[in-house]
Amino acid sequence: MMSNLKVPYLLTPGPLTTSHATKAAMLRDWGSWDDDFNRVTADVRAQLLTMAEAASDTYACVPMQGSGTFAVESALACATDPSGKVLVLMNGAYGKRAAQLLAMMGRRYVTLDKGDYLPPQPDEVATLLQQDADITAVFLVHCETSSGILNPLDAIAEVVRAHGKTLIVDAMSSFGGIPISLTKTPIDVLISSANKCIEGVPGFGFVIIRQTLLAAGKGRAHSLSLDLYAQWDYMERTGQWRFTPPTHTVVAFQAALDQHREEGGVPGRCARYTHNRDVLVKGMRALGFSTLLEDQWLSPIITTFLSPTDPAFEFKTFYAALKSRGFLIYPGKLTDVESFRIGCIGQLDAAVIEQLLSVIQDTLTKMGVSLFSESRSA
Ligand SMILES: *Cc1c(COP(=O)(O)O)cnc(C)c1O
Repeated sequence: MMSNLKVPYLLTPGPLTTSHATKAAMLRDWGSWDDDFNRVTADVRAQLLTMAEAASDTYACVPMQGSGTFAVESALACATDPSGKVLVLMNGAYGKRAAQLLAMMGRRYVTLDKGDYLPPQPDEVATLLQQDADITAVFLVHCETSSGILNPLDAIAEVVRAHGKTLIVDAMSSFGGIPISLTKTPIDVLISSANKCIEGVPGFGFVIIRQTLLAAGKGRAHSLSLDLYAQWDYMERTGQWRFTPPTHTVVAFQAALDQHREEGGVPGRCARYTHNRDVLVKGMRALGFSTLLEDQWLSPIITTFLSPTDPAFEFKTFYAALKSRGFLIYPGKLTDVESFRIGCIGQLDAAVIEQLLSVIQDTLTKMGVSLFSESRSA
């Protein structure tokens, strides 16, 4: 294994730190049309349905080449009725991106924009659905990675079902790390990707979609390559991806799924991530940092910390110092406050988080940043 001094830990929401076994799985070449590779694709699709507790006679899993956004784009194009209207629940960059995608496709939509970090509330969604009978679908980001907030998926899903609308969930940064059951929660479309909580390498996303919606999506795509129905149809008929698949990524993903199972599946992974988050938040607070969110909204995926107001703190310097000691953190994505983010997902455990905390303490001392004086006097 390579030294972690040279290869930093990625404390990011993906791509993230992957295991040696996952990387090693990529040391073989595969024919994209060959039965051996087709078996890997079929296995991965079946395992994802099982992980989502999605009945295989009701739902289909359709992988799509590209980053997560490619999968979101293909899902929105397939699952939204061109004569309908989508309610986009926004509290960060990924909700905004969904609205941008719908605008580009010429779909009608309305938004509930909660700003940077407030959760959309189920009763607000209910009111909007009552007021506007034209709405046919609701889009929700489960864990809005911009702030790390975990939005109230179950309660919103119940409201959407009660109104008979389609629910499309961007579970990119939560699926595999936070329990989601399509048997228990009425979700029509769920989107995620290889390089988040399942801890694969980047290269494809996947959409778990109700088969009736998939069938209705035939011919709706605005794009040749991002046609989810055509991808599914071709895969069902031939076992192959419609265009060149990211073969090495798919095989690495299968290895990552094995490890996910060995860790105890979603509950096992959720326990490790939650422990990482608890050690991180406790340690950062002890150093004097504040989290953007109250405890009830913190996800076990990524946490936003407010930057110290002490003028001695400069994010660039802080980032470079941590990087030189083997830790890549993540810049903030808020519109009006200075912040940075630290991820808890990937091949990391509490010992890594403890190391990070001591490097952060060291770095602040070297930078001459005083946190307690500033936060206590506030
Ligand atoms: C990572 C992520 C995406 C997809 O981003 P890509 O850069 O296209 O992979 C979408 N939604 C959420 C919530 C994410 O965390």
